[in-house]
Amino acid sequence: MLIFLGDGMGGRPIPELDAKTTIEAADTPSLDRVASEGACGMMYPISPGVAAGSDTAHMAILGYDPYEYYRGRGPFEAKGVGIDVNAGDVAFRCNFATVEGKMIVDRRAGRIKSGTDELAAAINEQIPQLDGVQILFADSIEHRAALVLRGEGLDEHVSEVDPHHEGVDYWDCKPLPGHEHNEAAQRTADIVNRFVERSHEVLKGHPVNKQREADGLLPANITLPRGVGAAVELEPFSQRYGLDGAMVIEVDIVRGLAMYLDMSVITAEGATGGADTDEIAIARSVVAACEQHDFVLANIKAPDLGGHDGDFEQKIAAIEKVDRAMACILDNLDFDHAVVILTADHCTPVSVGDHSGDPIPAAFFGSGVTPDEVRSYGERSCSQGYLGHFTGADVMNLLANFAGTGEKFGA
Ligand SMILES: [Zn+2]
Repeated sequence: MLIFLGDGMGGRPIPELDAKTTIEAADTPSLDRVASEGACGMMYPISPGVAAGSDTAHMAILGYDPYEYYRGRGPFEAKGVGIDVNAGDVAFRCNFATVEGKMIVDRRAGRIKSGTDELAAAINEQIPQLDGVQILFADSIEHRAALVLRGEGLDEHVSEVDPHHEGVDYWDCKPLPGHEHNEAAQRTADIVNRFVERSHEVLKGHPVNKQREADGLLPANITLPRGVGAAVELEPFSQRYGLDGAMVIEVDIVRGLAMYLDMSVITAEGATGGADTDEIAIARSVVAACEQHDFVLANIKAPDLGGHDGDFEQKIAAIEKVDRAMACILDNLDFDHAVVILTADHCTPVSVGDHSGDPIPAAFFGSGVTPDEVRSYGERSCSQGYLGHFTGADVMNLLANFAGTGEKFGA
């Protein structure tokens, strides 16, 4: 079973494209073949009209109800950068930044490239705990990092420290509105504020920063937490489905979800997560993964970027990359013994510049699939398909049904 996603690929009509969507305007012979020889429909990742994040959409499509299991992105970020998150932890993504006093000079510390491992080690060594709460910190690529608080009496209903702007003071962490009398949230906010101050004390005189300043670079002299979340218990994928699952992915937060679900994580050589990603390398990794695992989910990030940038030409080029990857998969996988759903995790319409709650064209192709009359992959064509409208929560059942592994409900 393969779930093949072009991140944010769905969209809305664009006047400059004669009211076609970016999928409809792109040249996509392989996506069209999947639709033409398969069964089509429209998928709402979470439910009709709900604009899904990449994290909640992937959870929903894998059959983990985000309304039940999602309490913020922090735990997935932390897991994705290698911290072993436990249920009950409160986790944040962080930036290394440059401050003067409280004023943010650069949110990304000059997009620091190296030395953050040493800075993270200094934080872990010198701030092992605050108020009896264990501090776990890890660096990721460039300025990115993650923070985990582990201990009793914590609560994730606290505000951001990073104001997402430069030339302003960073914010104090506070209980969220409605949680002012929540003692655990107040305590968590106090610990976050002390952590931010302590990180500044530890980092400002660190040899890595002394060297950066000597080289005329901005020092990474503070860490700014944001994207808080509370870690929940999630049943491992193999336990829930009895399938050996893998993800071929480019996005950190989805990597974190895969690790959370104890799935194999595969990053293709040449997968950059950007518009220049090597889609053929990704496709080859997908084919190799399908030979070794019962279940694979793959995601190509590029279409989402064009959507966020409001650039339909960029998005069309990215969708054509997804098409070339699909061509390679069609050439190399035996679909007499495999079934794929081609879709997206959510729509990112160019006209919106962000995710929307529109349904996404979806096509199932391969073993067990009854083809319908749809002849091309796109918003309007797939809406005519045999599967009608369904949600992300239906995808695993639909795949299992086509693959012949579904269990009968009833006698
Ligand atoms: Zn996005």
